[in-house]
Amino acid sequence: MTIHQSPEVAEPDIIDVPAGNATFKSRHPETIALHGGSFRFDPTTGAVAVPIYQTSSFQLPGTEGADKLFALEAPGHLYTRVSNPTQDVFEQRLAELEGGAAALAVSSGQAASAFAILNLARAGDNIVSAAGLYGGTWALFAATLKSFGIETRFVDAADPEAFEKATDERTRAYYAESLPNPKLEVFPIAEVAAIGRRHGVPLIIDNTAAPLIIRPLEHGAAVVVYSTTKYIGGHGTSIGGAIVDSGSFPWTENPTRQPNLTEPDASYQGKTWIDKASVIGFHPYILRARAVLLRDIGAAISPQNAFQFIQGLETLPLRLRQHNENAVKVADYLKGHAKVERVIFPKFQDGTARARAEKYFKPGHFGALIGFELKGGREAGRRFIDALQLFYHLANIGDARSLAIHPATTTHSQLSQDDQLATGVTPGYVRLSIGLEHPEDLIADLERAIALA
Ligand code: PLP
Repeated sequence: MTIHQSPEVAEPDIIDVPAGNATFKSRHPETIALHGGSFRFDPTTGAVAVPIYQTSSFQLPGTEGADKLFALEAPGHLYTRVSNPTQDVFEQRLAELEGGAAALAVSSGQAASAFAILNLARAGDNIVSAAGLYGGTWALFAATLKSFGIETRFVDAADPEAFEKATDERTRAYYAESLPNPKLEVFPIAEVAAIGRRHGVPLIIDNTAAPLIIRPLEHGAAVVVYSTTKYIGGHGTSIGGAIVDSGSFPWTENPTRQPNLTEPDASYQGKTWIDKASVIGFHPYILRARAVLLRDIGAAISPQNAFQFIQGLETLPLRLRQHNENAVKVADYLKGHAKVERVIFPKFQDGTARARAEKYFKPGHFGALIGFELKGGREAGRRFIDALQLFYHLANIGDARSLAIHPATTTHSQLSQDDQLATGVTPGYVRLSIGLEHPEDLIADLERAIALA
């Protein structure tokens, strides 16, 4: 292929370089994070960093080619609400890193969970979800999807059989977080995925809190969703989300289970999404999410934010290792503290929760979220937060910086005391998201704040 040099370079003004597609394949996340997908360099300029294609629209190739693009019979970009080359690099890299077949990046984690469900469920349908969910997802399922006529049956994730018991012929998906806080008990992915596969019901896992260190697709989950706002970005600059399709779920095995994919879509020439996808060798679930939900609901990721998440992916394996190492040191420190009632961290769990942590976490990893309970209860929790100097007090997780929050007086303050307890939030409970600072500095900040609590 040829690329044009800038005018200052006299000779040669055209050079031959190898084709732009990466051919080297690795199974190591460190390598995939930098090289995954087909992008090697920009074919126009030779730029190695992924360009930000800051454009709303793309020049169409003649009318015949345009017909094929609009009919989804040929791959290509039309309009950034539906796809964009910067977004495409991020999607390919993330899909490869997750061990999936294809991905769709969207404007937030909330958009990712909403799309993941709306892609399968219609009014009158239901989903079965673990009750331990991020509050925003809980509200989406319990209120907003309900108002659309989609019922969520919340079950206790500790009992995989509860998913089966809640299933009927209108159940379209199972949903859970791999590492839900505040309890931080790893979800039984393989057990519930196997039940789902018997019924033709895909398991969708929100893996936001544990990218790379829990691998839901390897345990039978059909789809993974992320708030990329958290660890995948890591920089705390951008809101984004993604859906990764395993490409291995047998959507047609049970012919009546997934009508959104197997029944003709009047808004797409009366074809089914299974048929449309087969024409161009795409995966039907992720193709429909892009072609229907981005078209109609439009929660597109901006090229600028897609670029930010590509930067985040590059250091994700390295950062996760350090987050985990720091978290173990902080958790061990808290465990031995006289003013700490208990520490909630997978390393210290026992029974079934411990067995699941061992089964699903990458060996030696426990995530970087820690809950702990101060002996002084609610007031001690407040004083502790106010005394922190290094930890930021904010409602987020997965940042490079360490973060702390006292849920009883912030994120969960609208809930009654009983409801707070039901979700695992006790009055003195504090949640930490351990960042990348030196662990001695983190422990020094905690030491001083606990002394003042
Ligand atoms: N899923 C989990 C586990 C989260 O913690 C969050 C946000 O805190 C979300 C989804 C929603 O993501 P976003 O804030 O990017 O919309």
